[in-house]
Order: sequence, then C-alpha cells, then structure tokens
Amino acid sequence: MGTTDLRSRRAPLEMTPEAFRETGHRLVDEIATFLESLPGRPVAPDETPSALRQHLPAGLPEEGADPGSLLAEAAPLVFDHSAFNGHPRFFGYITSSAAPVGALADLLASAVNPNVGAWQLSSVASEIEGQCVRWIAELLGMPAGTEGLLVSGGNMANFVGFLAARRAKGGEDLREQGLPQRAGRLLVYASSETHTWIQKAADLFGHGTDSIRWIPVKGDLTIDAESLVRQIAADRAKGDRPFLLVGNAGTVSTGAVDPLPRLAAIARENDLWFHADGAYGALAVASDEAPPDLAGLAEADSVAMDPHKWLYTALEAGCALVRHPGALRDTFAYSPPYYRFDGEKEDPRVNYFELGLQNSRGFRALKVWLGLRQAGRAGYREMISDDIRLARELHRLVAVEPRLEAMTQALSISTFRYVPEDLEPGTEAVDSYLNELNEELLHRLKASGEVYLSNAVIDDVFALRACIVNFRTSLADVEAVPGIVLRHGDATDRALRPTRLPSATP
Ligand SMILES: *Cc1c(COP(=O)(O)O)cnc(C)c1O
Repeated sequence: MGTTDLRSRRAPLEMTPEAFRETGHRLVDEIATFLESLPGRPVAPDETPSALRQHLPAGLPEEGADPGSLLAEAAPLVFDHSAFNGHPRFFGYITSSAAPVGALADLLASAVNPNVGAWQLSSVASEIEGQCVRWIAELLGMPAGTEGLLVSGGNMANFVGFLAARRAKGGEDLREQGLPQRAGRLLVYASSETHTWIQKAADLFGHGTDSIRWIPVKGDLTIDAESLVRQIAADRAKGDRPFLLVGNAGTVSTGAVDPLPRLAAIARENDLWFHADGAYGALAVASDEAPPDLAGLAEADSVAMDPHKWLYTALEAGCALVRHPGALRDTFAYSPPYYRFDGEKEDPRVNYFELGLQNSRGFRALKVWLGLRQAGRAGYREMISDDIRLARELHRLVAVEPRLEAMTQALSISTFRYVPEDLEPGTEAVDSYLNELNEELLHRLKASGEVYLSNAVIDDVFALRACIVNFRTSLADVEAVPGIVLRHGDATDRALRPTRLPSATP
C-alpha cells in the first residue's frame, strides 16, 4: 500500500477549480502586460548558458510545490530571459510573430486535451483540423479533395511529401521490400538552395544523401531548369530512377521562388512527383505582391507549408498537403488489432494516425483555425503584403547608404552588408575581411538587443539578412535599421581592422 487513502485521493498534480481560476487569471494578466511591454524590451538577451542556468532550480525537488507560486516565478523567468520573435524588430531566420489568440487557443486545447490521432478520441478537434487543411489548400489554389494534416513544422511536412512521393513512384512492393538494393537508384532533384530537410530525408529514409541531385541556380538564386532537364535525362540513360522533383516556393536563405509552373511541367513530362517546399513562402500566393511563379503551387503533387511562419501561428505548426485523395493513407496506414475504430462508409471518420508519422497527436489545429478566422483571407493578404512591402523598403533604404551594400530582395527577405567606404571589394584580403567584419557585426547586433538579424551566404559573401514575417513591424522599425547597423558597423570596423587588415588601416 502507498501512503494515500485511495478513497479520498488527492493527487499531487490536481488543482482545485478555485486555484486554477485564480492562478490562470493572474497568468493571463501577466501575459497581457508582457505583450504590451515587448517593444521596450531588448529583442534578445545577451547571456551565456552558464549564467542562465543560475536562474534554474539546482535539482529535481523531492517534494512538490504550489503551482500558483511556481507560475508566479516561471513567468518572469521566461519573460526576462528569452529572444522575442514577436518583438517588432525581430527579423531573424524565418520565425514569425505569433498571433496572441494562439496562446489562448493552446490553453483551451490542452485543457480539453483531445488525442487527434483518432476521430473517436477527438471528434471536434479532428473536424477542425480537417477544415484547417482544406482552407489552407484553398488559399494555395490546390484542388478540392486535397488531403493533408498538421505536423510540427516544415521539416516534418516536407518529410510527409517525400514519403508520399516514394510510395507513389517507388514501386508497388516498396512498403514490404524497402528500397531497391541494386537496380536503378531512386533519385531526388532540387536546387542547391534547398533547405537541409532534404538531406535529413534522404539520409534517414534510407536513400542516402548521394541520391540528391543538387541542381545549380541562376543569378537570381532560382533553379536552372535547363540543367535540371539535362541531369534527369543523363540519370535515366544510366538506368537510375528519378522519382521526385522539389521546387522552392521561397528559399529559406533569400526567398527565391523557383519557376514552379515550369517545374510542374518538367515533372509531368518525366513522370516525377512534384513537391513544393513552401514552408516559408507558400502563403504569399495570397498576396498581390508575390511573384507570379508561386501560382505553380496549384499544380504540385504535394506541398509543405508552415502555419508557424506566414500564418503567424504560435510554434509548432506545419502543414503537409497532397493533392491525390488516398495517397497519404496509402503511404502511412496500418491497422493493428489494438486500434479498432469503427466508421461508417457514407460518413467516414478521419483517423489522423493513418495519414502521417505521428500516432498520438495534440490539438494544434485550434490555434491555426482561430487565426484563420480572426484575420480571414483579407487579413492574411494584408499582413503578408505589408511584410513584403516593408522588406522592399528596407532594401531601398539600405541601397542609398554609402556604407551599406544592398544584395538580394525576394518575398520578405532583404540581404545586405556593411562595407567601410575606404575599402574596395575584389581582392582576397579585403573580401575575406569583409566577411569576418559582417559576421562579427551580426554578433554585436544580436548582443545589442536593438535589432535581430540573421545571415545568408551568397556566392561566398557573408550577408546580413532581414526576414520580415512579423505583423508588429512598422515602417519606423524598418527605418531604424540602417542607423543601428551603421553605428555598430563603424565600431566593429574600428575594433577589428588594426589586427585583421593592418595594411588597410588608416
Ligand atoms: C523553415 C523552412 C523549413 C523548415 O521548417 P521548420 O518549420 O523549421 O521545420 C524548410 N524549408 C523552408 C523553405 C523553410 O523556410
């Protein structure tokens, strides 16, 4: 026997309704104050891991504590020691500001806690996820009947597309026999700018990274379709089996959009599955500011997109879409004896565990669904267009500064670098110094907490990169960037040049 009286059991994790109500109200108040305080806070803390660990408890407690006081302590801990992708001056990576309604949605979702693996355990949650998926497919111009599911992010959504592709093109016995051991390798085609998910997929799903054909890009960083066609033909002639063509609907680094309609046609002509990686850029198709090639998403066999990027959903939410009804079930479903979920033929129930990699699944659809309803199609069109216009304005502002060199601009990503006026790029010594200078400048900008940028490497040039997927950013935030970068750039150059490029030190 344990130590509790089982007749009047009070589990250490239970909360009384009164305690929940009081603690919850206080927390919501603190969150509202925090959101209000965001613009005045540093964008990111400048702390070392060991300094940060001083704020955490020394060890796992033997005895528990009151959740109210734990949350009263946890709230300032995370408010005061986090990087804020919801800060109006956060332009790093591709991490969006998150719609506040998602925080409330997550609270509601985890309070009810449906398991969205099986319809029976999650009836309304499953239906809400289905509606989310259909709405997103509709926004992308994909046909009615497109199926899909929410996953944790772009990597997982791309994996789903990859696996559906090889199921469809890899031969009837692939699920039993695995990948062909000898005859003709299954090959994947993607531009050299494609995100690293493709290496993980080729490696982890048993193809090996050598099965990726990296197709060179043109000056605008989009795939060179002529090289692609030649490579496919050459591989076919050798007896290999091209099966998947990946197109970028916005590359992660610079936002370049591959010529998707052309890629769709090449895929059709060569009997390849056409997968579009739209983790970042797919949703921009809703905006008039987007490049026309994005319309090719409508022709893709599968698309990966990230609600936690341009739908401004709180992490985590990715979405995988496949245009062929039944293809996901064909790829993922097994029906073991311990899962007997009945469903009527005329009114079938979707059991999401059969459509993807996960088994038990959370109710991440609620925050996506509420965001879609809060903003509507028009609201998303407006926010995405504004992000793109702000990134273009940044590009323009940077271009007119003598000590800043504007580099690329596509979707809502602008890249540029700091170049001291007395230095002339073009020699190895100066070019390598400029790379080092801009890398150090990026560290200093992050540490300053004034603005958060990340980087891109374009033709061996280290560039600062601003990606605006942030509905809190205004024109004033963008106008502040050149001045901040110049001030830190000048200081960084003064500090570095005497030791790193002494020959050119004034
Ligand atoms: C962000 C991104 C990914 C990875 O998505 P996660 O949500 O970080 O897993 C893949 N491809 C592209 C083009 C991306 O922008």
